Parts: sequence; structure tokens; C-alpha cells
Amino acid sequence: LIILGMETSCDETAVSIVRNGSEILSNIVASQIESHKRFGGVVPEIASRHHVEQITLVIEEALSQADVTYEEIDAIAVTEGPGLVGALLIGVNAAKAISFAHDIPLVGVHHIAGHIYANQLVDNLEFPLLALVVSGGHTELVLMREHGHFEVIGETRDDAAGEAYDKVARTLNLPYPGGPHIDRLATEGNAAAVKLPRAWIEGTYDFSFSGLKSAVINTVHNAEQRGEVIRPEDLAASFQESVVEVLVSKTVEAAEQYQVKQVVLAGGVAANKGLRTALMDKFKKMNSVKLTIPPLALCTDNAAMIAAAGTIFFEKGQRSRLDLNGNPGLDITIHNGME
Ligand code: ATP
Ligand code: MG
Ligand code: FE
Repeated sequence: LIILGMETSCDETAVSIVRNGSEILSNIVASQIESHKRFGGVVPEIASRHHVEQITLVIEEALSQADVTYEEIDAIAVTEGPGLVGALLIGVNAAKAISFAHDIPLVGVHHIAGHIYANQLVDNLEFPLLALVVSGGHTELVLMREHGHFEVIGETRDDAAGEAYDKVARTLNLPYPGGPHIDRLATEGNAAAVKLPRAWIEGTYDFSFSGLKSAVINTVHNAEQRGEVIRPEDLAASFQESVVEVLVSKTVEAAEQYQVKQVVLAGGVAANKGLRTALMDKFKKMNSVKLTIPPLALCTDNAAMIAAAGTIFFEKGQRSRLDLNGNPGLDITIHNGME
């Protein structure tokens, strides 16, 4: 079974060919980070324009690297949401055009379902499964009792983890996207040198990062006013410790409560070394739970993850029609939730 995956929800134009749901034949990602950097974030209009310019080239490259023709492709899986509507539409329309021209079935995929299914590219999924989703726009704990079934048991009430990373990085004058820079600085800092709060929100699996973000900004401003110097390394280390501690504790607690067989990490912040190490340390001690963490290239946005999810949904009989639309607010519990 050969699936062509397509992803244009934000600022990467990505196309991938995946065989049998886990074998990556090609995985092309054209990143636009350089174009957005000077604005300190993704500019939607610029993103759409880049997708239009890149999509055909990226599709051709993915086919040629995989050495596959349209005749060999069983289905096209495309991110239909959530994301930037103008960006989503480029991928959705390219996918529809190929589907129509070559008579290939079309499958719409939820972007976060894709991030979760990135784990299928490295390991078999076993249910019940708990996914810790940490990305630029999402922070949630998702319970899966079977393929295609997603139950959000906790989510952020304000900023996403990646968003908090990027905003803190901005305060420290680090380039966009700031996550990887904070991650690197954190390894050189002393977390105990700066005290930052932890948002536990007792009794739920919800998260909150805006208080922590504000605490970092206030710490920096207060120090500036007093003429004190705080090492950015220490601030980064303390911030990262606060984020990681809360994420890991809630994940362990939920894994125990729901008696899951597997925990998977998903989304761009899954590339974070501090988070990866802390999760590995914790779950090494829990023999009944298998922990899976994708390699860095499959954590940030890519189309192999969309093809991996699309393979399962296609096998389950899901088909999208040619009136498929980009949906910036697509809900994961309804979409791809195949009862
Ligand atoms: P969503 O998936 O919610 O729609 P997105 O697709 O924009 O959002 P991703 O591409 O999954 O987000 O992740 C990008 C985010 O990951 C950015 O906020 C970036 O700073 C963060 N990130 C990447 N690497 C690291 C790292 N090593 N440590 C912390 N954060 C990181
Ligand atoms: Mg991105
Ligand atoms: Fe993403």
C-alpha cells in the first residue's frame, strides 16, 4: 500500500511517500523559516505564497526520490486542518487536483493526528495509548483506545508549549523559532539560579504556560531595572525545567490512571532534549509502559506523518470527496474519529 502524504498547514511545504504505513520512501520538507525569521513569526500571506511556489516542485521531488509514479499510489493523504487557512488550501487543492486527474482516492487528515502517527514510522502502536502532544499551537494529552480514536483528556488553557518557548526566546533576543535555542542554552545553565513557578492546575490534566512566560519576562525586566545581570543560560534552564516537570508529571499520572500500554511523544517540542531525557528516565522505571519518541525530523512538521496516519484511515475506509476544504479549526475528536 503506497500513500502520498501532503502537509502545508503552516510554514513547511512537505510531501512524502510511505509504503505500508511505516516505510518512508521519500520525505521532502521545504522550510520557509528563513523568510519568516525577520518578522519573528509566521506571516500567513507569505506562507501561502511560498506554498504555491514550492508545492509542485516538492511533489515531483518526492515522487522521483521514491522512484514511484502516480499509477502506483493507492491514496493521497492531505492535512485538512487545523492551521492557517490560506496555507491549508494550497495543499488541499493540490491533493484534489492529483486525485481528480489520476483517479486516486483522497483522505483528509487532522494535523495533530499526523503528529501522533509519526510514532508509527518508528514503532508499532499499542492501545490504549497516551500521546503527549507538544507543538507550536497545541499542548494536549490525547488518549487513543484504538486506531483513529482520539480523546483529549487535557489541554492548555492559554499558550501552547512551543508558543511559550518562542515568546521566552524573543525576550532573550534569540532568533525565531526559539525552541531549539532555549533547549541548547538550557544545557549550559543552572536551573536553581532563577526561581520560576510551575502551573499544576490540580485535579485536571490541563496545562497553562502564560503565567510562566510572564514570570520570565518580569524577571528579565526587573533585573534590567536593578541593573543586575541574569545569565540567559540560567533563565533558559529554569524555564525548561518548569515546562518539562509539569509535562512529564501529568503524562505519568495519566498513563497510570488510564493503564495505557504505550506513551508517545508528538509535535515540534518533542524535539526538546530536556523533555526527551526526562520522559525516558521516568518510563524506564515503568516496565508496563512502552515509550516511543520519534527522531527529530519526524517531530517537526513533515508529510511522512500525514501519510502514516492517512494509511490507517484509508485502510479503515475513510474517503474524502472532491469538495474537501481546508478547515483551520478542525476538531480531532470528531475528525478521523471512526466509531
Ligand atoms: P501545530 O502542530 O500545533 O499546528 P506547528 O505545526 O507550527 O503547530 P510544530 O512544527 O509541530 O508546530 O512545532 C514547532 C514548534 O516547536 C515551535 O514553537 C518551536 O520553537 C518548537 N521546537 C522545535 N524544536 C524545539 C526544541 N528543541 N525545544 C523546544 N521547542 C522546540
Ligand atoms: Mg512549522
Ligand atoms: Fe505541527
